[in-house]
Amino acid sequence: MKVTDNKNEFDVVVIGAGPAGYVAAIRCAQLGLNTACVDDWKDENGKAALGGTCLNVGCIPSKALLESSEKYEESIRHINEYGIVYQDVSFDVATMQARKNKIVKELTGGIAQLFKANNVTQLFGRAFIKSTRQLEITQAEEKKVISAKHIIIATGSSPVAIDCAQLTADIIVDSSGALAFDKVPEKICVIGAGVIGLELGSVWRRLGAEVVVLEAQHEFLAIADQQIAKEAQRQFKKQGLDIRLNSRLMSAEVKKNKVELIFKQEEKEQQLTADKLIVAVGRTPNVEKIWHESVELLLDERGFINVDEQCETNVPGIYAIGDVVRGPMLAHKGSEEGVMVAELIAGKPQQMNYDLIPSVVYTDPEIAWVGKTEQELKASGIRYNAGAFPFAANGRAKALGNTTGQVKILADAETDRILGVHIIGPQASELIAQAVISMELSASSEDLAMMVFAHPSLSEALHEAALSVSGAAIHAVSRKR
Ligand code: NAD
Repeated sequence: MKVTDNKNEFDVVVIGAGPAGYVAAIRCAQLGLNTACVDDWKDENGKAALGGTCLNVGCIPSKALLESSEKYEESIRHINEYGIVYQDVSFDVATMQARKNKIVKELTGGIAQLFKANNVTQLFGRAFIKSTRQLEITQAEEKKVISAKHIIIATGSSPVAIDCAQLTADIIVDSSGALAFDKVPEKICVIGAGVIGLELGSVWRRLGAEVVVLEAQHEFLAIADQQIAKEAQRQFKKQGLDIRLNSRLMSAEVKKNKVELIFKQEEKEQQLTADKLIVAVGRTPNVEKIWHESVELLLDERGFINVDEQCETNVPGIYAIGDVVRGPMLAHKGSEEGVMVAELIAGKPQQMNYDLIPSVVYTDPEIAWVGKTEQELKASGIRYNAGAFPFAANGRAKALGNTTGQVKILADAETDRILGVHIIGPQASELIAQAVISMELSASSEDLAMMVFAHPSLSEALHEAALSVSGAAIHAVSRKR
């Protein structure tokens, strides 16, 4: 192997060009730091593809397929209600996949352009931290050594593998495989009713697959507010998504192009045969072979890189952000950490509010929340008032033909400060930003109740939920008076 001891010296080297890493690199460069970003993700032609999991095989491609499948389902189930007559509606998976791939290409290419425009040096290859200030970049047979005053590790996460369901080329797959099916499987089993399982299960169910989701926990969407989770579970059941709680996979065997599963549902052994098995049981941080043992970076008890509130590791000058550190594995959390660390390196005071990171599940109905759930408030003994408003009583939702769900606001019983907002229904992913802004500015439910919201809009449901906290909702009977 050829070793060139290149004298490249950088103020900052970011390892990983996912939403945490590429944002960190751009912000560092904007702040005048000489910055490089190293990534070894390859597209199908072996060319560098920036954007990490989120852009290549995660958030963006899944949203593209969710949109295609949602439009199809709407056309076959509801379009006549709008006075539109379609005949012979059909779909073409190849076109859906091509559209998805085009969106991914445009966005990953967009990052490359942003790197150029901001003078970020893009390095293609695998980075290895040799010492606290030196990295080795390997690409094919080439190795080069670069130095950095600061290193930001943003290596992301990978799907958790389970022993009883080893991945195969095309039958037992992880989320990446499930985004690439070239035709609709007749029957799919998904392991894990988490965000990935629900989103991917929804895509293929809408296109006609029979989908069974096995979930080990007895509670559905345990991280969400349980009232909202129950409503979601009811809706998914109505749509035909067969979610079986308390169900743990025991074995999966591929036989004659199908997969035969044995699982235990409440201690009772059951069998199931499917055409595909999607394993979506969580993700694990990528911490392998990134630094030499002499660098002595510490991991926490769950195997994430140990960092403080400001994402600095135990080794001065080395930071870690995104899925590779504690906190929710969400692109927007990683991006904000990237900005925070860039500003800190540039000598600016920065911190981020980990209490107000919104979560979204892009199913239909969408589910989104920020702040505390009702069960969390109860467990910590915080007294609160709740207000809720159903989309069924919202004029815009009716006109849209999407009246499922509600907005729910939880406010401190003493101060009325908003502690949590939970939305299930149309455009929940967009509406939740209003809750984040309100809560960042320490709004009370009365503050929201006193503001003017445009009519007719879905946002009025947030307004009415705020009014409902004090029993003053106009278009529905409030839960409390
Ligand atoms: P998850 O942790 O959200 O859900 C995994 C589920 O699998 C859990 O409910 C768990 O109880 C279950 N499970 C684990 N082992 C099992 C077994 N042997 N049998 C049956 N069930 C089992 O993980 P995920 O859905 O894989 O997502 C990974 C990460 O990616 C999450 O942190 C998620 O937030 C993030 N993500 C977010 C979005 C979004 O923001 N919309 C989309 C996709 C992924």
